[in-house]
Amino acid sequence: MENEPLSIPRRMISKDENIQGMILKIRNDIEILFNVINVFNRTNVNLMGIVGNLIEDNREYTTYFLILNLFKSNKSKEEIFKEINSIKGIMKAEFLEKPSKNLIIDTYHYPLIVSKKLIAFILPENLLSSMILGLVNRFGKEIGQTVLFYIGREFAQGIIDIYNEYSLSVDEIVIATLYAGQSYGLWKGKINLTKEKENFNLILEDNFECRINKQIKLKSVLIRGLWEKILSLYFEEEIKLEEVKCIAFGDNYCEFKIIQ
Ligand SMILES: [Zn+2]
Repeated sequence: MENEPLSIPRRMISKDENIQGMILKIRNDIEILFNVINVFNRTNVNLMGIVGNLIEDNREYTTYFLILNLFKSNKSKEEIFKEINSIKGIMKAEFLEKPSKNLIIDTYHYPLIVSKKLIAFILPENLLSSMILGLVNRFGKEIGQTVLFYIGREFAQGIIDIYNEYSLSVDEIVIATLYAGQSYGLWKGKINLTKEKENFNLILEDNFECRINKQIKLKSVLIRGLWEKILSLYFEEEIKLEEVKCIAFGDNYCEFKIIQ
């Protein structure tokens, strides 16, 4: 399957004063959303970005962050506001104040969560690469990479704890880890999950750590530590992984096998 990037708009920088951010909180009913869209359609408002938000445990309402372009609209901001607020089932609809004239920011949704109460941060990739490369550059390969390896293992323990709360089986924890990584944009993975160790393999396309590591020509340690911990749970013994292919060394993907 072909992939396309997903943009999760949280902010926009625009000199255009007609671009506005809006928060919508509506009863979780498609008809209400349809009526809102209808107002935009009638008033010539262009919907440039939308993030919808449904908390797993609360299915009664949904909140949205919208980026709207009012440039071609025949109505003022106040009139649009009034029309939307007259729709039945709207719990909240407001234009967000701009912190400065060029910034449209979602200041309503905070913190960011992935599911239930799992808080997430959006880190730009260059911050992550500064952290990884900074550790190696400042403390040397050996210490820097050892630290990263143990961060990976600790992180894996956190993943295991969370999935245990959902009562996932061990197999499901492995699969969920693989696909959650893709949903966070960390890698695209494939796994041959089998108890026969010689046939096991894990392929991570676009593994974020090794993409960063291309600059220092090192295989992954954070990701390897993470997967060793997860897979040790699956195999019910401590296993070690070897990265037999690696994008930091020019391969198309990173591939891990179990050291026998
Ligand atoms: Zn690699």
